[in-house]
Amino acid sequence: MSKADIIIVGAGIAGLSTAYALLSRRPGLSVIVLETGPAAGHGASWANGSMVHPSQATPWLEANCDNADLIARKTYRLAARSSEMLRANMDAFGIAARHRKSGCAKLYQSRAAMDADMQNLTPLFQEGLRAEVLTSGEIRARLPIAGAALSIAGGVIFPDDHTGPPRLYCAALIKRLNVAGATIHVNAHVADIQPGGVTLKDGSLWHADSVVLCAGAGNSVFKNHLSVTPVRGYSRTFDISAGRLPNMAIMDDTAHISVTPLGDHLRVSGGADIDPDDCLYDRLEAYACALLPGLSEDIQAARKSDWTAQRPMSDCGPVIGKIAPGIFANTGHGHMGWTLSAGAAELAVDAVLAG
Ligand SMILES: Cc1cc2nc3c(=O)[nH]c(=O)nc-3n(C[C@H](O)[C@H](O)[C@H](O)COP(=O)(O)OP(=O)(O)OC[C@H]3O[C@@H](n4cnc5c(N)ncnc54)[C@H](O)[C@@H]3O)c2cc1C
Repeated sequence: MSKADIIIVGAGIAGLSTAYALLSRRPGLSVIVLETGPAAGHGASWANGSMVHPSQATPWLEANCDNADLIARKTYRLAARSSEMLRANMDAFGIAARHRKSGCAKLYQSRAAMDADMQNLTPLFQEGLRAEVLTSGEIRARLPIAGAALSIAGGVIFPDDHTGPPRLYCAALIKRLNVAGATIHVNAHVADIQPGGVTLKDGSLWHADSVVLCAGAGNSVFKNHLSVTPVRGYSRTFDISAGRLPNMAIMDDTAHISVTPLGDHLRVSGGADIDPDDCLYDRLEAYACALLPGLSEDIQAARKSDWTAQRPMSDCGPVIGKIAPGIFANTGHGHMGWTLSAGAAELAVDAVLAG
């Protein structure tokens, strides 16, 4: 039997950020992080699109909730705060500039799609989202996409979005948590949660005043506490030297594929809208070659690694705060988990410390 002040379930970006925020606020607390996998930070946070993009807080507008507009506005405000916290933390953690870029671009393959997205973004513009709306010619001139074999009707640059490596960020958090006295137990699968603690799959009981659910898509099994749907995504990462890469991440609103420069890597990621057939990763690669013809030889010749994971999606925006006596959650961030990580952790800690 083990005892801590606080047990965190899941050592992804949400769990590690929550532990870090707790120990930054209350250095003396005993914090245990329980992770079912063999290592921390290897879930959905490992090889995702790596964009810190408050501009993408809009899918909750399409959610099946009465107050979808309010959810998108609230998520945007949290994401904008989190984005600034992430910049400051990446500076403090010494994550080098070569892994980070300012701005994210979004392309539209038709005028109708662009108009619809501008309409979707209206509440975010009202909340302060900045965007440069560009014609097809203007966006082609700003990005290395001359000759792209895609129909590009226009584009937007979000200057306050940025990119950074969640994998290196998780590694920096783990290092700091070890110094601050937190314990991360791997191969520790939480099977049940009750006020006052958790039960592991091996039957052992772990006691704590508070439990924080940060199990990502794994939270879907704790249905009696919260509703989270796993949504699969994919990425292929190419080893290509930094000097050859685009100057910012590029999202395609129509194809639902993103291309991100990350140090000496180009990452191409896509979501659930891609048919899960055998050539899924090849399709990501074909898209990158069509978008960046000047880089297609490098892409085809590069060493590549494929990755898939499930993002935790909640219908009505992220679930952050108290969900039952002694039980808290920080999850359901969907496609925004990296973007929201620092800000959501701060909110979760507010709730935990308030009891
Ligand atoms: C292809 C793709 C691209 C993405 N791109 C972006 C992007 O560009 N920007 C952005 O902001 N977000 C992006 N996301 C979303 C983001 O990656 C996720 O929202 C985020 O990583 C979720 O973090 P998490 O800590 O909640 O989950 P995870 O990182 O999955 O961590 C949860 C952890 O809990 C553990 N766990 C599960 N069940 C249990 C249990 N019963 N007991 C103990 N441990 C358990 C898991 O093993 C895992 O380590 C992307 C996601 C995907 C899939």
